[in-house]
Amino acid sequence: MVSANAGKTQEEIEKELEKQYIPLSYGEYEEALSNGKLVGLKCLSCGKITCHPMPVCQWCSSRDMERVELSGEGELLTFTVIRVAPEGFDAPYIPCLVKTKEGPNIIGRLELEPEQASQELIGKRVKMSGTYTYKGDKFSGGAHVCPVFKIIEP
Ligand SMILES: [Zn+2]
Repeated sequence: MVSANAGKTQEEIEKELEKQYIPLSYGEYEEALSNGKLVGLKCLSCGKITCHPMPVCQWCSSRDMERVELSGEGELLTFTVIRVAPEGFDAPYIPCLVKTKEGPNIIGRLELEPEQASQELIGKRVKMSGTYTYKGDKFSGGAHVCPVFKIIEP
């Protein structure tokens, strides 16, 4: 019996496995962000959404998932103001954790003047308003894109 992978390079085999098991790679997730879209994975077993993309459903570990577009809306769970930036970052900025309307929590940046940041903002409704590209540092393996959220509830 001849293996289906006979004659293929390791790289070719990994590419095929990635297509089969990862309907949305991290690179594709960042590319969609750059085009103003927040995408995730809908589990075909439990119906819940995984975001950012992972090889398995973050809720039930199923590999049976399909790509979906998220609303970009959610609730501000928490944030902090960074005034002394790590290497490769520019301060000040506000990293935040958002509970998306679809379920998963995602990390992004909050579009807000640091002077306006206060604890009263926690729990407010937010919507994705754009993206931010980190230049990257010696630890990050290059530039990365993250969603930027804006408070939409007064
Ligand atoms: Zn699931």
